[in-house]
Amino acid sequence: MSEFVSKNLAVNEKGHLTIGGMDTVELAKEYGTPLYVMDEDLIREHCRSFRRSMEKYYDGAGLVCYASKAFCCKEMCRIAKEEGIGLDVVSAGELYTAAGVDFPMDKVCYHGNNKTDFELCMALKYKVGRIIVDNIFELERLNELAAEAGVKARIMYRIKPGIDAHTHDFVKTGQIDSKFGFALETGEAFEAVKRALSMEHIEFVGVHCHIGSQIFDIAPFAEAAEVMLCFIEKIKKELNYEIRELNLGGGFGIKYTEEDTPVPYENYMEHVSKRVKELCKEKGIKQPFILIEPGRSIVAPAGITLYTVGGIKEIPNIRTYVSIDGGMGDNPRYALYKSAYDFVAANKADRDKDSVVTIAGRCCESGDLLGEGVSVQTLEPGDTLAVLATGAYNYSMSSNYNRVPKPPVLMISDKKVKIAVKRETLEDIIRNDE
Ligand SMILES: *Cc1c(COP(=O)(O)O)cnc(C)c1O
Repeated sequence: MSEFVSKNLAVNEKGHLTIGGMDTVELAKEYGTPLYVMDEDLIREHCRSFRRSMEKYYDGAGLVCYASKAFCCKEMCRIAKEEGIGLDVVSAGELYTAAGVDFPMDKVCYHGNNKTDFELCMALKYKVGRIIVDNIFELERLNELAAEAGVKARIMYRIKPGIDAHTHDFVKTGQIDSKFGFALETGEAFEAVKRALSMEHIEFVGVHCHIGSQIFDIAPFAEAAEVMLCFIEKIKKELNYEIRELNLGGGFGIKYTEEDTPVPYENYMEHVSKRVKELCKEKGIKQPFILIEPGRSIVAPAGITLYTVGGIKEIPNIRTYVSIDGGMGDNPRYALYKSAYDFVAANKADRDKDSVVTIAGRCCESGDLLGEGVSVQTLEPGDTLAVLATGAYNYSMSSNYNRVPKPPVLMISDKKVKIAVKRETLEDIIRNDE
């Protein structure tokens, strides 16, 4: 039996898969399927390891902000609040969720490439710590709205640092073509800083970049920090303005399958801090306050999804479809990106993975699959199938396509179950219908 991709998973004496010490077959029986199960203790451990790395390597002169788009509900905001980390939001809905647990708003970053007036006003009303401004139109609008509200907006700029680390081999080209942020190469970012500094209702505190997602190398983060510090130096020299904050975004990789090789989360801050300190000394600029924004890496390894196997269709010499009671509605990532996952028959997790099948969802779409040609124990109708490392971008990306109610989210801590999100009912499905 090979090891699982997440360390909170194991097999018990019945041969059942466990998460945080709880029998997943029992959970599926009690709460029904599809079912999201998250290990709260592991989420907290990840929050702490990022926070600790900021303290240990950067003297605590920074803030870890959890990117809530990865998984957002009140319980997750409560956990972030209790762990003393900040929160990234990208919509009124995420901000409202944070407000619902009295999240300290000075630790909130508001992102997005097209915030509405309603959202900008809401961010001002709640006094969020930093609004990450994406473009000049938004800057002008925010200045007007802040004037109307009689306040000053604290902002950072989203910068395209010209580093694309979406793949293993990061390249320094092509990034001008992104819908996010101000370009450095064209002078757009520099002109925008001049404009912000001239505005009465804008307090310009820093610059932000986010170079991609599911990144396994440390080098692109250090490289991005270097590009950003050069810009900070240029602003200091040419505009005599010292930028105080540097936000390096998220994107730290996690293990979805055996092929993924993430580095320990502490290593990012260790390397980046060292580089930032060196460069600041070299350039004669003040060490900026640093923000990082892990999303996936905090929640993905902590979650699994449990399904019940239905019909199995063997097409001779072609493939075998195993149908489950969920799919793209609760996990659109395979349909969107062909994302790879690890599959385990939860009720026979001690057996060998001796079959190769295609996992089919229940929606009326041929593309509603969770994996093709995946290795798993031989499945039969009624088995409980676990998909691993689904804690990020699953519940948060779920939909009601085909009017299928969304599954609930359970949080496991110290072998106790908390319902973080209730299962949707059929009544919920028609709630807004007139
Ligand atoms: C999505 C996003 C993150 C988090 O990315 P992960 O890959 O989940 O760590 C952080 N910052 C910004 C601005 C983002 O858009």
